[in-house]
Amino acid sequence: MIAIWGLAAEGGDPEAIETPFGAVKFTRGAVGGRKAVFLKRNGDARARVAATVELDAQRVIAVFAALSLRPELSAGAVLTPVDVLDQTRSGPTTFFEGCGLGYVQMTPPFCPQLRATLASGLPADASADAIVAACPARAITLAEARAWSALGADVAAWGLAPEWNLARELERCYAPLLLVGESTQAALPLLERALQTVQPEPECGCSRLNPGAHRALGDERRTWVQSCAALARDD
Ligand SMILES: [Zn+2]
Repeated sequence: MIAIWGLAAEGGDPEAIETPFGAVKFTRGAVGGRKAVFLKRNGDARARVAATVELDAQRVIAVFAALSLRPELSAGAVLTPVDVLDQTRSGPTTFFEGCGLGYVQMTPPFCPQLRATLASGLPADASADAIVAACPARAITLAEARAWSALGADVAAWGLAPEWNLARELERCYAPLLLVGESTQAALPLLERALQTVQPEPECGCSRLNPGAHRALGDERRTWVQSCAALARDD
């Protein structure tokens, strides 16, 4: 099962799943011959991640309409960035408040195998080493766009943080797909192509990103959030 965030499925009856952070609506479908669940990007990002874990989707393709910070990246450009500059200032940034288990490696920040799969569906001239700035939840200023560009960012996207970090805490394979100046629905044909080549099961290190949580809370990630809350209460 692959989760696709930020993109609506064609057809498919709406369903809902309860999480400790609220109910999440989703639809089931298929892309590139693979079963997929489609989740819109609204509400608490923790609910979206928890729902994805509950639905047993190990891989998350996060689709965004993005803003170009470089003149050479014009409308219609599609890319899967290699790294992120987090320019957001608000949370929630962790599932593990008060129990100190949210430390996961950020080198790399995204699943390399899932990125490679997405890249296989991109045009040959797509930027392979782009850096994305994660925007705060408001319009950005011209000074911010200039500053982020000077820091090395090529594009900017809303909603990437904190969802990506939260997804990594619960050991999802997470890779962003950015469409400059386009609706996210334009990603569907590209995903149809790319997911023809996806491995049946991930062969990456993402399922062991949070060894501290495995040691303290066991291997069932569905119970990690509740177990952390209990641990924090006991202290
Ligand atoms: Zn992975």
